Amino acid sequence: MNDNRPIIAANWKMYKTPQEGYRFARQLAIKALNLTGVEFILFPSATGLFHIKDALKDTSVGLGGQNIHSAGEGAFTGETSVSMLLACGCRWALIGHSERRHIFHETDADIHAKIPAALDAGLNVILCIGERLEERQAGSTGAVLRQQLQDDLAGMESFPIERLVVAYEPVWAIGTGVVATTEQAGEAHAQVRAILLELFPDLPVEKVRILYGGSVKSANAAQLINTAGIDGFLIGGASLDIDEYEKIAEISQIETKVKL
Ligand code: PEP
Repeated sequence: MNDNRPIIAANWKMYKTPQEGYRFARQLAIKALNLTGVEFILFPSATGLFHIKDALKDTSVGLGGQNIHSAGEGAFTGETSVSMLLACGCRWALIGHSERRHIFHETDADIHAKIPAALDAGLNVILCIGERLEERQAGSTGAVLRQQLQDDLAGMESFPIERLVVAYEPVWAIGTGVVATTEQAGEAHAQVRAILLELFPDLPVEKVRILYGGSVKSANAAQLINTAGIDGFLIGGASLDIDEYEKIAEISQIETKVKL
């Protein structure tokens, strides 16, 4: 993956039936023809993946699972394996989303086990990290980001880092309508890049794209995409509406062209 187009990723969480997801994907397949300056990735719920794959056939829109289990298969009720995602046409896995960490108590050790499982099977990874409000207020944002990256990527000295995307998602901005200021996001993105450079001095860290996530919408997309260090978005709520999602992509495409 050597692509500097902004990633416009949609995390649908536990919304949209397979039928609704299919209809959205059909519409997006058409809209994407005019939006070749961005890279789309959809993360529907696992039940929709198999059909949505067909809706996206012959398009460059990527498809991914919102979560994976680190084991190849086994007695893990309710879980989804990497090979199941691959069979559904997925090229991506979303790992460590804050809702997985904080609602489902996923630990950094769990996340650490999932990343090589995904990469080894050929999936690209979006790894989500971010601080809680109290951690930001205590001035420990940088330390939290460092701890998450260190633990989640521990022992991975030699791996295809260009297939890793990091999503900086401050927990206090997810689904709250409160968006990070461009200063806060810019500073955090610079910290993430610097930590990766420190952890992986021998790897091409410049190829890792760093997305911002947290209450992105069309009204704030231009400011954010123009912030140094932001390589695209991971979008929750605003990605559920095809027109709003398209608008964010369109803005990102226009602003990136202006920037270059
Ligand atoms: C998300 O779910 O990753 C997210 C950023 O949600 P929202 O855009 O709704 O804040």
